[in-house]
Amino acid sequence: MTGTPLVYREADEDEYALFQAIRDKWHGHLDGYGVRFFFRNKPQVLDGRKCAATANRANTLVSWLADMDGWVEVWEAQWFDDPEWRAYLLDHELSHFAIRKGSFTLVGHDQEDFLAVMGRHDPRVSGLRSIIETRSAAREDGE
Ligand SMILES: [Zn+2]
Repeated sequence: MTGTPLVYREADEDEYALFQAIRDKWHGHLDGYGVRFFFRNKPQVLDGRKCAATANRANTLVSWLADMDGWVEVWEAQWFDDPEWRAYLLDHELSHFAIRKGSFTLVGHDQEDFLAVMGRHDPRVSGLRSIIETRSAAREDGE
C-alpha cells in the first residue's frame, strides 16, 4: 500500500460546538457518555464504499486508554461547507449510538437511513448526499 499516510485531527472548537449542539438537541440519551469527534484525511472503506463518516464504539482497551465510549470520524473531503449537511451528517452518525441494557452500543439504520434523522433535516440535503454516507455495518456487527 502506498500513498498518503492516514492522518487524524480532532475537531476544532467550532466543529465541536456544532457536534455538542446536535447531541444536546436530539441525542440526550448519550448524556454521561464520552463521544469524541475526529476527522481523517482519507476515507474509511467498508464493503468497497468510501465512507463520508462512521460511528465507532471504543473497545475496552481504547475506552480505558482514551476515556471515551465512542467516536465519530468524518472524512475531511466530505465535510462540505454547508451547515445543513454538517448538521445532518453529525445527527446521522450520532444516531448510530444507543444505550441498550445499560451499555453503550452501535445500532444500524432503520432503512437506508434513519427515518427520524431524515425528518429533522432538509430532505434535499439528506436525499442528495446520504448516498455517499456509507453504512457502517461492518463496524456495527462487532469488533
Ligand atoms: Zn449510517
